[in-house]
Amino acid sequence: MSSGNLCEVSTHTREIMMNNKGTTGTCNYCNQSRMVGCDIGDSTEERNETATLDCDCPEAQKNNKAQEQAEIAARRIDELFGAEAAEKGIAPLNNESGIQILKSIVMAISDYDMESATIQLTKRCKAKIAITKKGEIKVTRTETMQYESTE
Ligand SMILES: [Zn+2]
Repeated sequence: MSSGNLCEVSTHTREIMMNNKGTTGTCNYCNQSRMVGCDIGDSTEERNETATLDCDCPEAQKNNKAQEQAEIAARRIDELFGAEAAEKGIAPLNNESGIQILKSIVMAISDYDMESATIQLTKRCKAKIAITKKGEIKVTRTETMQYESTE
């Protein structure tokens, strides 16, 4: 393996450069090589990540969608439980560690480690996070009102 700046190899070594790890990344799913350019980063991991994001094989598409869904779901958690909830007329939870747990669940779901989770945050407030058949991560906040009657 040669070292040095791989972007500046002269033309007669073009053939070597074509196969050089410096300019291509490999999709993490289908192992297809893609040109990713020299400015992408030095680590093979970073280049592979870029190649995966660009790849249109079904597995890469699924992963890319999961990452996108995780970002959307994390935003929904802020909207439904965080300080942003107040803007929508919902009482914020004021429970930073509870919100962090919900976001960890989103990450686990987007990594396909979990299907769904229901968390009882307070006596009345429940959160449900679940992946739909379409691969969307749904966040639901449920407030339960309890009425007791004394007869
Ligand atoms: Zn691929």
